[in-house]
Amino acid sequence: YVAKRGKHGFEIWAPDGTPASRDRLETLEQLRTALDTDQLDVHYQPKLDLRTGCVTGVEALVRWNHPERGLLYPDVFLPLAEQAGLMRRLALRVLERSLRDLQAWRADGLDLSVAVNLSVSNLQDVALPEQVEMLLDAFGVPAGSLVLEITEDVLMSDAARSQQVMAALRRLGVRLSIDDYGTGYSSLAYLRALPVDELKLDRSFASNLTSDERAAAIVRSTLQLSEDLGMSMVVEGVEDAATLAALRAWGCDYAQGYHIARPQPADRFLAWLADQPTSVPRTAIPVQRGL
Ligand code: C2E
Ligand code: MG
Ligand code: MG
Ligand code: MG
Repeated sequence: YVAKRGKHGFEIWAPDGTPASRDRLETLEQLRTALDTDQLDVHYQPKLDLRTGCVTGVEALVRWNHPERGLLYPDVFLPLAEQAGLMRRLALRVLERSLRDLQAWRADGLDLSVAVNLSVSNLQDVALPEQVEMLLDAFGVPAGSLVLEITEDVLMSDAARSQQVMAALRRLGVRLSIDDYGTGYSSLAYLRALPVDELKLDRSFASNLTSDERAAAIVRSTLQLSEDLGMSMVVEGVEDAATLAALRAWGCDYAQGYHIARPQPADRFLAWLADQPTSVPRTAIPVQRGL
């Protein structure tokens, strides 16, 4: 347990990064309330197509507008939600919110995709594919515009069940992406077997690829691998122009990171997008930054 300076003086935090017991119960109670009310929010970070220089999609990242503690990031409440069995409700909230926003953007002529993160327990939830299908229908969003990001560790718990869920999602036409690729368990055995469309290389590789030849070699060979497997590759955590330039030169498909834009609430994301040069149709918004 460690004491951290919080908003209201020192707070005690458990080793797994969540608040300790009494605070924890209180936070849990508040999280249930947050799920019942509208305190959970989604911020969007653009995904840049490096070939065309256009934004083709966004990643939806959950936030909690806590009435007293302000904006909370997922690291603070996701472990708690997972332990308390609240991940299905959380995922459905985020999906609903993202698909609703996507529906509005599409109606406005913005042809974007949205990527939603799933947790280990979501991939164990055999009811999930049907719920995803219902939400896609409800918002009239084509399945191909939804990407679901899963991390490698989903395969550590119950691989058979998560593969069943993944297959059902894929049958809907939803695209699957492996998030934080390169940091998890195994990497090659399941790449052969799993129906995934995209590899999303962990940001630890992006953060030093211009200075570390080994990181650069890993990025380049993973690019080659994704290409040979017919998958696209996204590098996340791109924080400077040099990294973006290197990725483009190596033929990387997509990039995400603070250098392009930080995750922002829907209205600020739209304002950012509108600020980009619009000499081309709105369905393909080019981004000048770093190009
Ligand atoms: P992730 O899916 O790998 O998302 C990327 C994280 O990196 C986000 O943190 C994003 O804000 C941050 N990031 C983006 N660009 C940069 C950059 O250039 N530099 C650095 N240092 N960081 C960057 P965030 O929003 O705090 O989310 C953390 C993790 O929480 C996510 O990692 C994801 O695993 C999880 N998460 C977020 N939203 C959801 C959700 O709705 N459901 C589930 N199950 N997990 C979620
Ligand atoms: Mg992600
Ligand atoms: Mg990631
Ligand atoms: Mg991550």
